[in-house]
Formats: sequence, C-alpha cells, structure tokens
Amino acid sequence: MEKMKAAVYHAAGDVRIEERDVPTPVAGEALIKVLRSGMCGTDASEYKSGPKIFATQTQHPVSGHHGPMILGHEFIGEIVGDVDAASGFVTGDMVASGAGISCGTCKRCTEMRTNLCEKYVTLGLNRDGGMAEYVAVPTSTLVKIPAGLSLDAAGIAQPLAVGLHAARRAGVRDGDRVLLIGAGAIGTFVLAGLKNLLAAEVTVLDFGGSRLERAARLGADHTVEVGENAEADIKKIFGDAGIDVIIEASGAPGQLQFAVGLVKRGGNILQVGLPSTKQEVDVHKIVMSEINIQTTLAHVCDQDLGPALEILGSTTLATELIEGVYPLSEISTQLELLGAGKIQGKVLFDPSR
Ligand SMILES: [Zn+2]
Ligand SMILES: [Zn+2]
Repeated sequence: MEKMKAAVYHAAGDVRIEERDVPTPVAGEALIKVLRSGMCGTDASEYKSGPKIFATQTQHPVSGHHGPMILGHEFIGEIVGDVDAASGFVTGDMVASGAGISCGTCKRCTEMRTNLCEKYVTLGLNRDGGMAEYVAVPTSTLVKIPAGLSLDAAGIAQPLAVGLHAARRAGVRDGDRVLLIGAGAIGTFVLAGLKNLLAAEVTVLDFGGSRLERAARLGADHTVEVGENAEADIKKIFGDAGIDVIIEASGAPGQLQFAVGLVKRGGNILQVGLPSTKQEVDVHKIVMSEINIQTTLAHVCDQDLGPALEILGSTTLATELIEGVYPLSEISTQLELLGAGKIQGKVLFDPSR
C-alpha cells in the first residue's frame, strides 16, 4: 500500500503529521492529489478547545468515522487514477472540492438545499479530509477549475462559496442598502458575494485598520470603525431611509442585538457569525418591527462552488486574502496563530511540498 503524509487531529492542541495509507476510492469517488488545502476558523476552534464537531471521541452516525481524523475541508487538486467516465471527469482534471457530501435523495436534497441533507457528511469534520497528499472524494462534490486560474486562487473557492451562499440567504434585493458587521475572512467572502452577485450598497463595520482598508479596496461603498461613534456614523450614512439588511459576520457577543436595534422596520438580518455563548435578543422589538432573521450554513455545491471559481478569476480577492502557502509541517503553528486572532485572511497549505 502506498503511503502519504497527512495532518491528523487527535485532540485539542494535538495535530500530528503522520504517515497514512493513500486512500482507496469507493464507487462514485475519485482520488485527488491535493495541491492546495486551506484551514478555517472551525479547525482553529477545534484545535483550541475541541473536539466539539470532530468525530474523534464518538463515532459519526453517517460516516462511521471514529478516532483521530485527517483535517481539511477546503481543498483543490488533480484527479489521479481511474475515474468513472459517467461522472464527466477524466484523469488529470484540476478540480475544487465542496466540503459536504449529500445523499441526493432526501427531502432537503430534492429542494436543492443539499447543505441540510439528512445524511450530510463534511470532509475533514466528520471523516478524513484534504489536509494530506491524497484524499478520496465523491465526484458529485467536485467542480472543474477554469483554465488559467492559479492554484492559490482556486484554493479559496470553498470558503468563497460559503460567502456566496450567505449573500444569497440575506434576501438582499437590487438597490438595497446593507450593513455588513465584520470584515475578517468570512465577512470579506460575504462582501465579495454582495458586490459580485447583487446590486447592493454595502457599508462595512469593523475595527479600524487593515481589514477595513481591504474591504474598501474590494468594493465596500462605506466603512465605519468600531468605537464610541460607530452608531452615529452608521446613522449618518443610512439617514432616514434606514438599513434594509444587516449581515452579522463577526460572531462577537451582542452583535445580533445591535443589528436588531438598527435595522429598518420589515428589514432582514442574516446571522453568519457563531458567538461562543448564548445571546439575548429583544424579541418584542423583532415582532413589533416584523424583522426577518435568517441564518446560513456552509454552501450548496451545485449553486455556489462554480460561481466562486468564476469570481476568483475576475477579482483581486485571492491576492487580497491569501497570507501564505506553507508545507503541512507548519499546520500546528498556523492553527495557533488563527486561533489567537493573528491571521486576518486565509492561509493555504501545499501538501506536495
Ligand atoms: Zn471552513
Ligand atoms: Zn440528502
């Protein structure tokens, strides 16, 4: 059996580079030689204080995985070995992988909400993922990378797909005026969705400095710095017309309630960020103003991954967001930096190095 290097999660603070067998694809799967693999906030929080999601302690009910697990749910690569001709792919194709695997037949799958599949399994969360030299993936979650797109740019297609899904879920209509709270990696991907898929005027709120400057370069119409004057500054920008949609992408405590206080009557709030504690909101205000509160989770492979790759080919998003490409041996250091809030964009790994 051929061997490969993989970044394996054992417990909080314990990710090891190990030698594993190269996986053998089952029917419907293809073997991918991984060329770029990203880490995200979920990986960092599991590294810091997990496992909460990872199937290391108890067996995952659908995937059957139990025990140490290969990280990685944001990856791209080249199809190696045989692939079923009916899949539309051939050996040598460069592909981006969606993170989640859905059954295709349950109620939510038939409604095109495959991210809510009853049998949803996420690579790198519920079974071995792509932070390794090779990974086996169902061809149904793969999308071809357009010719000419760089590996680095394609490497952030999955998290951008999450941002595009969020932008779609926000219920923004053409001409709407939107407040986006949070311009970290997730907020920036949502901003890209709003500016590339919809015709909205977007104001971004975050701490002053590099994140807001990046948001302005990526098309934010206005930026507001967090601080004493933030609310007054927001009101000055939106005036009497008010805020149609607020997207909460910071996950900071109190921000959902802040949005409830600010949104226009009949307006929409989309909660993207995940606060670490339970949050209080003013239900009275929500009802009396008929405010719609929406949420968003992951992405729908068929709807979001292709457009993400297209947007990466036509914008400066990749150069703005990618902070470095490292060998797998750097994984623990980078997970620590991300968990400590010291990474403002995306870090990628090249397992072939
Ligand atoms: Zn992620
Ligand atoms: Zn399903």
